[in-house]
Amino acid sequence: MRCPKDLNVMLETGQLTAGLAAECCPTCQGAWIDSETYQAWQTAQLDTELRLGV
Ligand SMILES: [Zn+2]
Repeated sequence: MRCPKDLNVMLETGQLTAGLAAECCPTCQGAWIDSETYQAWQTAQLDTELRLGV
């Protein structure tokens, strides 16, 4: 995947936060997250909170 701001830059796969994969741009420091990936992560966070009884 290429950076939407600079199509010459290839994004690097990294982690935005624990368990949340994101495509990070080394040039503009932007991070793009796949909506499905984000929803899966968000669901996992909710599951964790329920288990902790928050
Ligand atoms: Zn960029």
